[in-house]
Amino acid sequence: MKFNTKTIHGNQQHDPSTGAVMMPIYQTSTYVQSSPGVHKGYEYSRGANPTRTALENALASIENGTHGFAFGSGLAATDSVMKLMNPGDEIIAMDDLYGGSYRMFTRIYQRYGLKFEFVDMTDVSNIEQKITEKTKLIWVETPTNPLMKIADIQAICELAKGKGILVAVDNTFASPYLQNPLDLGADIVMHSATKYLGGHSDVVAGALVVKDEELAEKVHFQLFAGGGILGPQDSYLVLRGIKTLHVRMQRHCENGKKVVEFLQNHPKIGHVYYPGLESHPNHEVAKKQMRDFGGMVSFTFKSGNAEEAKKFLEYVRVFTLAESLGGVESLANHPATMTHASIPADVRAKNGITDDLVRLSVGIEDIDDLLADLENALN
Ligand SMILES: *Cc1c(COP(=O)(O)O)cnc(C)c1O
Repeated sequence: MKFNTKTIHGNQQHDPSTGAVMMPIYQTSTYVQSSPGVHKGYEYSRGANPTRTALENALASIENGTHGFAFGSGLAATDSVMKLMNPGDEIIAMDDLYGGSYRMFTRIYQRYGLKFEFVDMTDVSNIEQKITEKTKLIWVETPTNPLMKIADIQAICELAKGKGILVAVDNTFASPYLQNPLDLGADIVMHSATKYLGGHSDVVAGALVVKDEELAEKVHFQLFAGGGILGPQDSYLVLRGIKTLHVRMQRHCENGKKVVEFLQNHPKIGHVYYPGLESHPNHEVAKKQMRDFGGMVSFTFKSGNAEEAKKFLEYVRVFTLAESLGGVESLANHPATMTHASIPADVRAKNGITDDLVRLSVGIEDIDDLLADLENALN
């Protein structure tokens, strides 16, 4: 089955009890048993719920995995991966990371005895240098948020192979339409389903997908015993979002390219961060592992002036000044004060998240209106 069919039909079945074409929202916590221990596969909704199961099956299908798991948020999904670790274990993570992931690693799990090394994964040798006997996980994010760095997933997986090191990839920015980390050798794919999978900025949700039976059991245990599940209503919304993922992503990519072209030719713009640019330092890797380049674009101002960035963000009208990304509507964000404010200023500066950096989530509106809005706000 091709991807554009999988989003709609992959691992999906009509509701067996009624024939409903869309899986209903099973708003129930518990299930009747005909005799103690005799039931239809569902006992209590923390363990499993039919609406969540339908979503989890769809997630596994679109990421080419065997098991999907739906969490109450992207960070709840990441949290469960961290709980697969033991005190003393070492984790190598990307240096340019979603702010909330960085916050969890440094402010929660460091206290529990996990050790984190943050490295620039655009150069695989930086990872190699940090691998020790205690390394148990490599946490990859590519493209990164907000600097659109690209890490070579396949090369990283080859590095980890045979050493008992899990490779997990935060695939939120690319979405499975553009990139399938499990196919490149990764063990775990993580998504903030709040973003492209949900696609309509109306739900907070997270996902993990794996392709190994033993690992699937461990992840399910984390979900069931840890309790960070996604509710049936939100499961329904993400499942509904996935059904149009491919058409939305196609337009996100088209609009993203045109916005990049516009920004590159604008006299006020400094640097444009976009993996689809031939001038992007990892463009070749991006071309190898991604099918297209998505709708996320970051840029700075030629003046380097943070005030200019602020003014621009106050004047956009079609773009909405808000955190988050991946919805149908275009959003603009100021990483230094919004999404990445949880990263200490010195770490931000070291990583290149300057105060004049703006991140755009290019939506699926008419491109003419988007470009006119950018032009107007820049003027
Ligand atoms: C939003 C986001 C997360 C966190 O997901 P939530 O659903 O907000 O918990 C993690 N990684 C990336 C890349 C994100 O954009």
